[in-house]
Amino acid sequence: MDKEQPAEREKIKAGIPQKEYDNIHKWVLRYFGLATRCESEDCTSEKPKRFEWALRKECSYARNISNYIQLCPSCHRKYDLTEAERANKSAKKIGQLNNGAKLSEISVLEIYRLLKNSIPSLDIAKRFKVHPTTISDIKRGKRWPHLHSKYIQNEK
Ligand SMILES: [Zn+2]
Repeated sequence: MDKEQPAEREKIKAGIPQKEYDNIHKWVLRYFGLATRCESEDCTSEKPKRFEWALRKECSYARNISNYIQLCPSCHRKYDLTEAERANKSAKKIGQLNNGAKLSEISVLEIYRLLKNSIPSLDIAKRFKVHPTTISDIKRGKRWPHLHSKYIQNEK
């Protein structure tokens, strides 16, 4: 086999190569056997048919049993869902810093346009229903710095 061959056939599962995922799975089974109970605190399942090993939140697929948790299929699905929701939430935060989160990029561009036309910050704040500090922060590039650099460029 040519080592340089691109690994396009390599399947990815849960963010790691399928092969590695399978190996970890085998390793857990070999040392700790089948999952026999649900470790979820708010488990409501009655007599689940089987149990599964799940990766604990914010843990990596390592050969360390404390990274894994035994769950019933129902709790496993819930567990993975909340993990996905958490990831989604943190993704939304990026680019929208706490206090300025009410403003869209389009609004911020509009604010820059108004600032250029010498509209008082206080009036702009009222119009966008934000705190005047937010406007002065935008003006100084403390928020939305990537939009601020465009604004500065246009000034020249
Ligand atoms: Zn459960």
